[in-house]
Amino acid sequence: MKLTIGANGWPVIGHELTVGQLRRAVQSGAVAHAYLLSGPARIGKEHLALTFAQALLCTAESSAKPCGHCRACTLVAQRKHPDFLTLDMAWQGAMLPDKKSAQSITVDAVRLMNSELARSPHEGHWKVLLVPEAEGLTTQAANAFLKTLEEPPDQVVILMTSRDAELVLPTIRSRCQPLPMRPLPLSRVADALRQQGQHSEERTRLLARLSGGRIGWALQAQRDDTLLTRRAEALEAHGRLLRANRAERLLAAADLSKGDHALDMLQTWAGWWRDLLLVQSGAASRISNIDQRAELDHLSHRLPPTASRAFLRELQRLLAVLETTNANGQLVWEVLLLKLPSLSGEWRMANGMTD
Ligand SMILES: [Zn+2]
Repeated sequence: MKLTIGANGWPVIGHELTVGQLRRAVQSGAVAHAYLLSGPARIGKEHLALTFAQALLCTAESSAKPCGHCRACTLVAQRKHPDFLTLDMAWQGAMLPDKKSAQSITVDAVRLMNSELARSPHEGHWKVLLVPEAEGLTTQAANAFLKTLEEPPDQVVILMTSRDAELVLPTIRSRCQPLPMRPLPLSRVADALRQQGQHSEERTRLLARLSGGRIGWALQAQRDDTLLTRRAEALEAHGRLLRANRAERLLAAADLSKGDHALDMLQTWAGWWRDLLLVQSGAASRISNIDQRAELDHLSHRLPPTASRAFLRELQRLLAVLETTNANGQLVWEVLLLKLPSLSGEWRMANGMTD
């Protein structure tokens, strides 16, 4: 990927205020012990955390940090710097092989990390710990981590990320400096995509819209087709299910509960229903799924807005549940699919619709 240098001299697109704040902290040495970067998935939290870690560990002169090419910057980018640690499942599995099948970060892993942080840095002045998805820490793991968070060794900087700061345990959250990250204007995302290279304007506009301002999503979707393929599959399943009968839906629920990308799928569906509501309320110019306009126009007349609103609420409720509990069971899907509005004549009649 082409490196884009932002207005603040860091390779971060947008998020100027936060970058400015972190940059001043690095230059003055007045770095907080713990930060909580929060914002929706793929908004750029981990990229910013890595860039901040590079700036702290970089060996170039102060105003050039992070230089992006010294040994320290390179090792952080590869996640191999000895003073850059990540408290995640991969680290836990590598350090504690008997915990490989654990479902979350264990107290033992936290204790091991605490003792690792208590040691002096190997190379530079700082030791940086990344804790991704801090909302997933169990109360026990969080409690084991509290002492380090309350009185961290001088040289330690802890960078936690979360898709929603409110989901992080208050004991953790209150000890971190908050760094909320908000979606970028869509025009900004489109400009960044154009700078990256050789894609059609149509694709650039679609990716910018679908990103909802999440620059990380847009860049990843442009780099490889995984996200767009997953979206196409989600839309295809959705279109099929709208036209499916009860028995077919129950069969599909069994399949969907075994899938790996339930959250992505439901987010795609929620985006689609938001768009349908926009079309139904005369605001079609604001839709995200601009390549679905014909289908949305067609269905906007075949489904009542009240049903769209009710089902979108249902999707949002389920998304909130899945994001916090990971309860991707067959029953959850059955309930959802039976509530999914239908294009069958029977359903439409029961809901007072005529052709
Ligand atoms: Zn460097």
